Amino acid sequence: MSSTSPQPLLLDATRLAGLLEDIAARIGARHVITDAADLAPRLVEGRGLFHGATPAMVEPADTAQVAHVVAACAAAGVPVVPQGGNTGLVGGQVPFGGLLLSLRRMNAIRDLDPTDLTVVAEAGCTLHQVQQAAAAAGCLFPLSIGSQGTCQIGGNLSTNAGGTAVLRYGNMRELTFGLEVVLPDGRIWNGLSRLRKDNTGYDLKNLFIGAEGTLGIITAAVLRLYPAPRASATALTGLPGPQAALALFRRLRDVAGDALTGFEILPRFGMETVLKHMPGTTRALSGDHAWYALAELTSTRRDDDLSALALEVFAEAFEAGEIEDAVIAASAAQAEALWKLRESLSDAQKFEGGSIKHDVSVPVSRVPDFIAQASRLCEAHMPGVRVCAFGHMGDGNIHFNLSQPVGMDKQAFLGCWAAFNRLVHDLVAGLGGSISAEHGIGLLKKEELARYKDKVALELMAAVKAAIDPAGLVNPGKVLLS
Ligand code: FAD
Repeated sequence: MSSTSPQPLLLDATRLAGLLEDIAARIGARHVITDAADLAPRLVEGRGLFHGATPAMVEPADTAQVAHVVAACAAAGVPVVPQGGNTGLVGGQVPFGGLLLSLRRMNAIRDLDPTDLTVVAEAGCTLHQVQQAAAAAGCLFPLSIGSQGTCQIGGNLSTNAGGTAVLRYGNMRELTFGLEVVLPDGRIWNGLSRLRKDNTGYDLKNLFIGAEGTLGIITAAVLRLYPAPRASATALTGLPGPQAALALFRRLRDVAGDALTGFEILPRFGMETVLKHMPGTTRALSGDHAWYALAELTSTRRDDDLSALALEVFAEAFEAGEIEDAVIAASAAQAEALWKLRESLSDAQKFEGGSIKHDVSVPVSRVPDFIAQASRLCEAHMPGVRVCAFGHMGDGNIHFNLSQPVGMDKQAFLGCWAAFNRLVHDLVAGLGGSISAEHGIGLLKKEELARYKDKVALELMAAVKAAIDPAGLVNPGKVLLS
């Protein structure tokens, strides 16, 4: 992919020294980190695609301190880049010369109300911390993603993160009632509303959710909780292909309705890769299946027999030739083992050499067409390329990943990323889909966004950026082409 890191901005040394002194006086000198070894892990994102630079990372402890830092940067004309857990996959959190602003110390749960079903969490709380706080109160915070031990609520909001339960609960936009944001000039917008109904003008929070830190620094949020599920069923099925998986998805949804919480697919190559490389994984279904679908059903009613319901649906699907075999977890440990087969796939792929990734969505009904056509196009473009298309079929979100042909040089393969992008993204656009379903734009997909997004939408996005951040100092160079 064209993942060249931008040239770092050169800052005036005297101005910078004055700025850091001012910030240190307010937040404490030990929270202004300049040591190269301490900064190093914060300057590269997980896949190593982008390498950044910063004169310092600052760690404010509360909203007023964040406001002070941002106002001081604005006055000095120095860019500021917010960073959460640094698990983002498109390079949005990497600074190129500006100050790095870590939200790590802002990790308090300010309030949790089981009647309102809300939790007020600061931006630096890890996702896991919020899930645990909700569980301790008998509630559920339903966002669930592989990086949940490290990623932070501010990062989840800024990327509008989704995961394995979007089908039932939606992504971060649907899980948020209100926000607190420090604007690029240092003003604090207190939008920490807990209201389900509030028709008082523009929906400002949805500008900041998914903005990847380009419009301001999110410092806290009112997040939506749900009653904790008390019954669940997790099942893995072997099936002939994505069309059959779609038919099974419809059957399950028709019968289970909202109880269908997740529906994921993976191909034989993905399953075999996981079983080969990931310790602690075991084959759950005997026989040779071209595809697999993992379904999860949950209910708040303790007596709901979701396994019986799934069995009923599987019997019909078996009769119709849509599934070849199925297993339903008999315990929480077995359910976890089934999920591990799906969730280890990204890591397992690393053992197969270079991987070119596309995080795309199409209407759910077009998923089988998309997988068939994209596979044909890519295999014709590079004989021997190994397609690994998997993910959230119930949301129409497929991670269309390509593993390098066996024996090919990894760098030579990764050098073909742009050509594969054209094949896959043209097809996605033709099917009415999106070139980024859950990971965002950051640096990685800026050119692709400019190519595929509606031109009027791009103009509106640029106008919003100019209105809120006229000096262009908050996370500059991300999302939009400058
Ligand atoms: P960072 O990586 O630190 O930052 C991401 C972006 O948000 C950057 O642009 C940054 O500037 C901005 N930002 C961070 N904090 C703030 C703030 N307080 N205010 C304003 N802007 C801010 N993503 C999914 O959606 N679904 C998945 O299922 C999923 N699975 C993953 C599995 C693994 C193993 C990994 C490594 C990543 C996965 N991701 C997934 C991607 C990533 O974890 C998410 O995008 C996550 O939301 C990023 O959170 P973070 O705190 O690490 O943010």
